[in-house]
Amino acid sequence: MAALEIVHYGNPILRKKGKPIEQFNDDLKRLGKDMIETMQAAEGIGLAAQQVDLALRICVIDLREGDWEFDYRLNGGVYPLDLIMPMVLINPEVTAIPDPVTTYSEGCLSFPEIHGDIDRPDRIDVRFKDLDGHDNHLSCNGLLSRCVQHEVDHLNGVLFIDRMRKSSLLEIEQDLKQLKKATRKRLKRRPDA
Ligand SMILES: [Zn+2]
Repeated sequence: MAALEIVHYGNPILRKKGKPIEQFNDDLKRLGKDMIETMQAAEGIGLAAQQVDLALRICVIDLREGDWEFDYRLNGGVYPLDLIMPMVLINPEVTAIPDPVTTYSEGCLSFPEIHGDIDRPDRIDVRFKDLDGHDNHLSCNGLLSRCVQHEVDHLNGVLFIDRMRKSSLLEIEQDLKQLKKATRKRLKRRPDA
């Protein structure tokens, strides 16, 4: 199946809270697969349902590329990354450990070419269901933790610009305006979007 279309900043779907997923069926498996393919085609490390025009609580993550350093335990065990990624998180609930906080320049597939510094807690616990409806518990830090926090924000209609440092926001102000304008223009041309 072809990759899905990624929506950009200015599309109102990005501000919608996702509905919990209740049916763990073949349609959901297809959606998970399509989202993974879409993320990989766009060379992203994470993608949330709102970014493919769906207000649902599902996101995907793949951190196998690149030499990131982070610790993680999935259901109490340490498995090779190749075994657990790409990861599909359904109805995730994040608990952040408030201290320490780290700063990192984040990007987002819905904001092409735009980056900015964001402070986030380094370590989280996240409980989620997988595509089979099984309960999972991931404890992690570093970029994996940051990526989960960024994607789960999307599921709540929260965007990285909401958390960005003022100094970064000032730098990207014009780019943001232009992106929003371009997205709105595009939506007007397609009344079905
Ligand atoms: Zn994003």
